[in-house]
Amino acid sequence: MNIESNLNHIKSSLPEHVTLVAVSKTKPVSDLMEAYQAGQRIFGENKVQEMVEKHEQMPKDTQWHMIGHLQRNKVKYMAEFVDLIHGVDSFKLLKEIDKQAKKHNRTINCLLQIKIAEEDSKFGMSSTEAKSLLTSEDFSTLTNVSIVGVMGMATFTDDTNQIEQEFKRLKLAFEDLKSIHTKLEIISMGMSGDYQLAIDCGSTMVRVGSSIFGVRNYSMNN
Ligand SMILES: *Cc1c(COP(=O)(O)O)cnc(C)c1O
Repeated sequence: MNIESNLNHIKSSLPEHVTLVAVSKTKPVSDLMEAYQAGQRIFGENKVQEMVEKHEQMPKDTQWHMIGHLQRNKVKYMAEFVDLIHGVDSFKLLKEIDKQAKKHNRTINCLLQIKIAEEDSKFGMSSTEAKSLLTSEDFSTLTNVSIVGVMGMATFTDDTNQIEQEFKRLKLAFEDLKSIHTKLEIISMGMSGDYQLAIDCGSTMVRVGSSIFGVRNYSMNN
């Protein structure tokens, strides 16, 4: 695995308006450093503890995105440094992020996770739920969070047609929500297997792991 050449290959295929999140979960800091030295600054992790440990070891200008399902009691460990939280799927979670951000006198940028997949296992809100959140009285009282976009995960399938339908669903949800919340800029969708399709469907942020760092070996690392 040559991380630098993988990274350069992917970057050369991305339009300028698309941001690359290098998904480094389960990978050692030495791998992240290889990507860092090749110019990558944004890294995505799905476990808070792992992100905190890597944050302590990586250079200070590294930017950290939490891309996994997030438990409320873990927010406090990363509130001081996390740059973007992709998977916000409830007001309760958002309220906790706001509370912890306040303690550090900062604003934390968040994406609302929208459920676009047919399969039941994926987390997320319906676009109707997202809309009620953004227009709610409760939401207007939060001072230290900023909702800057949406995130979605397609069904795990080989059916490209289905994935395309699901990506288009997220793009539509984004347009709809942006009409009531103009701050929305980011559509986070697309992973190693489908990021090109995601970009064709309107993605502005892709989360790519195995195509950069190689396949993950969960039995050894977790
Ligand atoms: C692991 C993960 C990715 C990256 O997956 P790859 O197929 O390795 O590119 C993207 N998004 C989320 C939410 C993930 O958990």
